[in-house]
Amino acid sequence: MLRVENLHKSFDGFMAVYGANLHVERGDVVAVIGPNGAGKTTLFHLIGGQLKPDKGSILFKGKEIAGLPAYKICEMGLGRSFQVVNVFSRLTVFENVQVAVLSHQKRLHSLFHPARSLGVEKTEEILRNVGLLEKANRTCGLLSHGDQKVLEMALALGTEPELLILDEPTAGMSPEETAVTIRLIQKLSRELGLTVLFCEHDMELVFSIANKIMVMQSGESIAQGPPEEVRQNRRVQEAYLGGDG
Ligand code: ADP
Ligand code: MG
Repeated sequence: MLRVENLHKSFDGFMAVYGANLHVERGDVVAVIGPNGAGKTTLFHLIGGQLKPDKGSILFKGKEIAGLPAYKICEMGLGRSFQVVNVFSRLTVFENVQVAVLSHQKRLHSLFHPARSLGVEKTEEILRNVGLLEKANRTCGLLSHGDQKVLEMALALGTEPELLILDEPTAGMSPEETAVTIRLIQKLSRELGLTVLFCEHDMELVFSIANKIMVMQSGESIAQGPPEEVRQNRRVQEAYLGGDG
């Protein structure tokens, strides 16, 4: 589904991503781990089209997408949420997801139809899936941080992705919110058949839900494989897991 090869990106000479490789197959739940500044967010921006790579290849469903604009990549079936919460804070939960649904269905331009009545079923289905249906009429700015992060996932689902990319989906969450989010990611993968690529600091979470892990250090991917294999990898233990696995 996704094949990243030898990807490079520098900012004013600073190499943020320097030889990243990543293979994601349909149905995978893949975690990218690595210390702060390793280049995880930059890698996701390159895949999602928010940034253009200097060098390297990104094949999504067999097509080269490196350097394509984000909206084109999104149309091809790649949805993502961001490390920093990114919702319309004055709209309600329902309206936020509805905007994503309608923009994906290219119905936002139909100005002569009251948008309020469009895409309602799809919007409700998504809110039910992520567990936010009861909070549909709340103003987003007033939601808890955890609910805002979940809402971001709902926005990404509005574009009906096949591959969902999540940048630190549980950042800043309470243990209870984290547990809810873990279950949600598992549900999206198992019940809705989504392929998920995420990065995360919480190792317990990573090892409990990922079927494949890629480890980044200083912009480079230093290991990739099933969790147990990565855990045993000497380079990973030295670089990141502190030697004791
Ligand atoms: P991670 O998500 O793994 O913490 P990032 O991809 O955010 O890492 O950052 C990788 C490195 O690139 C960091 O040293 C960061 O300061 C740098 N960086 C990221 N974005 C920019 C930018 N737009 N301009 C300059 N440096 C950047
Ligand atoms: Mg980051």
